[in-house]
Amino acid sequence: METPRLEIRRISRAFSGRNVVDDVSLKVMPGQVTCLLGPSGCGKSTTLRIIAGVEMQDRGEIYVDGNLVCDTIYRVPPEGRSIGLMFQDFALFPHLTVAKNVAFGLTGTRDENMARVEELLARVGLGHFAQSYPHELSGGEQQRIALGRALAPRPSIMLMDEPFSGLDNRLRDDIRDETLAVLKDEGTAVLLVTHEPDEAMRMADEIALMRDGRIVQQGAPYNLYNSPFDLEAAKFFSDIN
Ligand code: ADP
Ligand code: MG
Repeated sequence: METPRLEIRRISRAFSGRNVVDDVSLKVMPGQVTCLLGPSGCGKSTTLRIIAGVEMQDRGEIYVDGNLVCDTIYRVPPEGRSIGLMFQDFALFPHLTVAKNVAFGLTGTRDENMARVEELLARVGLGHFAQSYPHELSGGEQQRIALGRALAPRPSIMLMDEPFSGLDNRLRDDIRDETLAVLKDEGTAVLLVTHEPDEAMRMADEIALMRDGRIVQQGAPYNLYNSPFDLEAAKFFSDIN
């Protein structure tokens, strides 16, 4: 059995006595996109923040590549977890060139870093923008640079929290497809958070359906779509156009 890139076991977190994340377990296998899908407020972002290490769980463990990075006593800081992050507010550093933005998290030699930046910019199709500044790029282009920046240090797992919701509808499908292609080329495993079933159906290898802090169903996209486990899940998926 392959080692999961990411595994969380029985994670819980309460705010003011309410379980916002309630006994959540999931795995992301190498090369796979797992989607944490559920309505607004169900606890998706809190789960992601706990995995990233910027929020603490009350119970449960987190493993990256089979290594414990956090339980209730032991805690690897966020920057030591080999986790890449991409959020809706993917702000690039405005005072740095595109190339320097992508190089930001790199720790290699100057030559190694430059080679990696070149590789990533080519991969997202924006090599010609290396010396441009973020404000000279469109929203979609900035998104691709942010993806390159997050992937540059070769994280074991990418966490993406509604990364496409700031884009207009016309662009969104194209950028979803491009992003998926880049992630597959790099072979990066992804945990993608979204409240949009069509995004999950389009991008995921595996969907974990979340409701009120709990994962209520998990499986291949077509399984959830064809056999939703209750009426509420069926209604949720029926919105897909
Ligand atoms: P989602 O990302 O699925 O929309 P969130 O994880 O952001 O959901 O939030 C889940 C619930 O937890 C919401 O009701 C939110 O108000 C609450 N919550 C999140 N963070 C905090 C916090 N730091 N303090 C108190 N309540 C919080
Ligand atoms: Mg959220």
